[in-house]
Amino acid sequence: MNQEKRVFLASPHGMCAGVRRALETVEMVLDRFGPPVYVLHEIVHNNFIVNDLRQRGVRFAETLEEVPPGAVLLFSAHGVSAAVEEQARSRNLRIVDVTCPLVKRLHHCAGKAHDVLILIGHRGHPEVEGTVGRSGAKYTFVVGSTAEAEALTPLPPGSRIELLAQTTLNTEEVGRIEAKLRERYPQLESAATVCYATTNRQRAVRALAGKCEVILIIGSPRSSNSNRLREVAEQAGVKAFLIENAGEIPAEIIAKTATIGVSAGASAPESLVEGVLERLRAAGFRVENENCATDESTAFSIPPIPEKS
Ligand code: SF4
Repeated sequence: MNQEKRVFLASPHGMCAGVRRALETVEMVLDRFGPPVYVLHEIVHNNFIVNDLRQRGVRFAETLEEVPPGAVLLFSAHGVSAAVEEQARSRNLRIVDVTCPLVKRLHHCAGKAHDVLILIGHRGHPEVEGTVGRSGAKYTFVVGSTAEAEALTPLPPGSRIELLAQTTLNTEEVGRIEAKLRERYPQLESAATVCYATTNRQRAVRALAGKCEVILIIGSPRSSNSNRLREVAEQAGVKAFLIENAGEIPAEIIAKTATIGVSAGASAPESLVEGVLERLRAAGFRVENENCATDESTAFSIPPIPEKS
């Protein structure tokens, strides 16, 4: 007898409040000013969204020098350093700051650090660069693993040490790094800065892992939280794939797997999730939604948008 083919859709999955706010804001800015509108770095790390906005007249700049004076410039959801913000203001740009309020909170905590700030995060990620550039500490270190925590240069005795984490990290990995640092510096003070959306999506993927042979995570390769979801699934003992859309589901998985879990990173639009489910339905899978025991009613208000002069 053929085994029934089933898909379990994680709950919650997909877009978070910070990404929704960033995208609603860019739509409002496009309506008000018309193209071109500039964004410093990708507004969120999702290729589908970035390509769509690009076609509608949004230009993504890597440096402020690429943005002409007087233009409308959005800071991305990942935030920027104090120096970049200051430089942008001095270039007479009309700034719309869509930094996620939870990244702003991280900036605020970093700004309050005194002696030493240790930020758990991935070097080179815009959120980490922006947060390091907001640090009020005499010494700021970025630590990306337990090995790096062990190798951290000895800190001045008696230092007050603040520990923070990038908002989109693997919560269990953050716990392991913190434990390692605490062995060396029992006095460190930490604030929980991994965001609600990251935490909830990881919890949902761990719950799926017990009932699926494979988990598909929908998200772009540069999306930190999507990569962490794939890692979380693998650490829970399940084969996992990060895919951008339905076309990237490995044919072998469709053919040889009876139970597939599906989740999506916080910057992945629901249309891509629907596309993946549609392809799996067409291949004979029955889709079951997981029950959501988590309240995700979080919403953020739109940031100030300058008037068109
Ligand atoms: Fe904000 Fe978290 Fe979404 Fe990042 S993943 S935009 S920190 S809510």
